[in-house]
Amino acid sequence: GVPILLHYFFYRAAASPPSSNFLLLGPSGAGKTAFTTLLEAKSSLASKTSHNTHTSQVSTLITVTLPASVPTASNRYRSVNDPSLKEASRNPIKYRLRDTPGHGKLRASQGIAELQTMASSNDSKNKLRGVIFMVDTAALVDEAVLRDTATYLHDVLLVLQKRSLGKGRSSTKRSTEIPVLIAANKQDLFTALPPGSVREKLEAEIDRVRKSKTKGLMDASMDTAEVDVGEDEVLGDDDGQGVFSFKLMEDVGIKVDVTGGAVKGDSQEEVGSGVRRWEEWIGMCL
Ligand code: GDP
Repeated sequence: GVPILLHYFFYRAAASPPSSNFLLLGPSGAGKTAFTTLLEAKSSLASKTSHNTHTSQVSTLITVTLPASVPTASNRYRSVNDPSLKEASRNPIKYRLRDTPGHGKLRASQGIAELQTMASSNDSKNKLRGVIFMVDTAALVDEAVLRDTATYLHDVLLVLQKRSLGKGRSSTKRSTEIPVLIAANKQDLFTALPPGSVREKLEAEIDRVRKSKTKGLMDASMDTAEVDVGEDEVLGDDDGQGVFSFKLMEDVGIKVDVTGGAVKGDSQEEVGSGVRRWEEWIGMCL
């Protein structure tokens, strides 16, 4: 009768596996392994399961528990006195995070390939909810690091743009959005650039990457007498004519946020420090 049904319902709710996936990308040294290890440690504190250590040479998939105090898109209006908060700590929200190696050579084969696979998955149980692109904000003053980071980010955004535009054209239903969080890590270092300048620097550098790519495509198309450069190949919906900004990505259905934080110095007490703001971004995708 009813008690059995209720039992079944609660049992199912508690036992249901996490089905929201996030992909962690970014250049080597940004702090991806440190972030993954921290989240895993925090989760194992919560669920008392052991965690493994890993190297940054292989792609790993971890299950993370969202802290009960972090709101999600579906419960953002609840108050601290809301009984559903207690419910949340008893039945925590989980998600999966895939970490990828960031080295130049492995990046193309693993990071981008992983993104392509996950972004095109039709399995509603394994939806990619968001991409976290981590950067070392103390290293971006180095021209080579900036160029390398912007090139990688450009390629990531182009994959998402192709997905977004491609699906929109073939059917009336627009594909679900995959937002991007640029996690401006290492804000604890006093040489770190603040998130605002990280945004500006990346936008200006992506603009350069985009211009040189467009020029390359134009030069190549001269031979075939084809002047039109496909929108699929240029990041943003302005044919590469204007100046690139992350705002431009919104017109092709991709929301980009730049948010500061520090894997080192994360503490449960201080709201707004450590990785809290990134967890809040993740919560808003759930
Ligand atoms: P990955 O290559 O992206 O996986 O980067 P790692 O996680 O291996 O981190 C690279 C280095 O940055 C390590 O020495 C970390 O301890 C350090 N690191 C990571 N996050 C922070 C941070 O928030 N602040 C500082 N100061 N160092 C960090």
